[in-house]
Amino acid sequence: MTDCIFCKIAKGEIPTRKIYENERVIAFLDISPVNKGHALVIPRKHSEDLTSMDDENIAAVFTAAKKIAPALMKATGATGFNIGMNNRKSAGQLVFHSHVHIIPRFDDDGLKLWSGKELKNETAKELVEAILKEI
Ligand code: 5GP
Ligand code: ZN
Repeated sequence: MTDCIFCKIAKGEIPTRKIYENERVIAFLDISPVNKGHALVIPRKHSEDLTSMDDENIAAVFTAAKKIAPALMKATGATGFNIGMNNRKSAGQLVFHSHVHIIPRFDDDGLKLWSGKELKNETAKELVEAILKEI
């Protein structure tokens, strides 16, 4: 896609801090890290979000994340990592080229990515029924 910043990064048209690449994916440091070593893995082929990615590229992105995450931990001294993917505007997606965040985590780093609310029995029952109809 011509007007997509991550397509431009994938094609090498704009510079980035590349940390990994293969024939399907490229990974680079996030320009605005939420923690030290925050990186993104993207498929070279444009798609807007998870629902429009080829299954082969989903596998390739997560296989790359599995390889990259331990390297990020060793390089930064992190003791864990989060994998995240924002899908669509309401979920906070800002760049509409599918990408997975790898966020290194440090003991007591204070980063709070999400917090849960109580799941009531009746709500759970309705949800499970509704989801089962859609899958
Ligand atoms: P999301 O779409 O999942 O909300 O986040 C997009 C992410 O891409 C953000 O964390 C943002 O900092 C990062 N980002 C946006 N533009 C660039 C860029 O040009 N280069 C790099 N390395 N990261 C970018
Ligand atoms: Zn793109």
